Amino acid sequence: MAMHVIYGGTFDPVHHGHLRLALEVGERLGKVPVSLVPCHIPPHRGDTGATAAQRLHLLKVAITDEPLLRIDDRELRREGASYTADTLRQLRKELGSDVPLVMVVGTDAFAGFDSWKEWEQIIHLAHIIVVRRPGSELDPAGQPARLLAERRVWHPGDLEGSASGCILEMDPPWLDISATGIRERIGTGRSPRYLVPDAVWEEIQCKGLYGACPVKKF
Ligand code: ATP
Repeated sequence: MAMHVIYGGTFDPVHHGHLRLALEVGERLGKVPVSLVPCHIPPHRGDTGATAAQRLHLLKVAITDEPLLRIDDRELRREGASYTADTLRQLRKELGSDVPLVMVVGTDAFAGFDSWKEWEQIIHLAHIIVVRRPGSELDPAGQPARLLAERRVWHPGDLEGSASGCILEMDPPWLDISATGIRERIGTGRSPRYLVPDAVWEEIQCKGLYGACPVKKF
């Protein structure tokens, strides 16, 4: 049964950390495409540095020609806050009840999983892949760690046997890059080159995003 894999984030802007991770996960699942899902208004964050349309455009530029990466802009098309439970419910409706639906999150995001809207429902809608982020640990006494212990599977293939309900930890190489660091660099006149695809940096400069000095494209 084909798997449907989503990887959500603010992508403000998308960087090589996100892109490498998505590709690694897709390959480890057996060359399954991964859909990047930019969120509109992150429920746990304030304003973003670029508009939704700009972030979406940077994502498009970033994944050009990569067959394993896709973009799903459904959260940007929805009014108001993006809640993962709503997105998964919508996807589940589209995919039907049998297709394995997989959500990828970093340990940093999963550590606060029990504060997500309807978090206890999420595991009934999808599998979760928790990607280990160095320096970010789960509180062993917390609800996310308990859920992981209850639902854990050990092999990517284990996610194919059911539509939802399992949690798999993955430990792909993690590039030490953050969108915050990129915005800071650009805002202080330094270059984010080699942290983001060249085409993304070009576009950021072209549009003068994140305080970059606008340059003309020739
Ligand atoms: P910010 O610095 O603005 O918080 P970020 O770089 O952490 O942004 P987000 O868009 O907030 O990126 O994160 C979306 C998802 O990407 C999260 O699940 C997060 O764990 C993951 N992520 C963030 N940075 C990396 C990285 N360097 N490598 C792989 N995944 C990452």
